[in-house]
Amino acid sequence: MRACKNCKFVVITSKECPLCGGRELTEHFSGIVVILDTNSEVAKLLNITKPGAYALRIKKH
Ligand SMILES: [Zn+2]
Repeated sequence: MRACKNCKFVVITSKECPLCGGRELTEHFSGIVVILDTNSEVAKLLNITKPGAYALRIKKH
């Protein structure tokens, strides 16, 4: 699995983020949050507007 560095969307095999079209995907992330309801507190906190799986933290190096 990889996470988009731009929007944190998690993809399984894709080389491109289906959400923002970003090509910077990283395997170095920790934690996954699955957002089903974009009106939930968590979604608002993370600025998520589309349901899906998102990385909680992306490691920078
Ligand atoms: Zn993205």
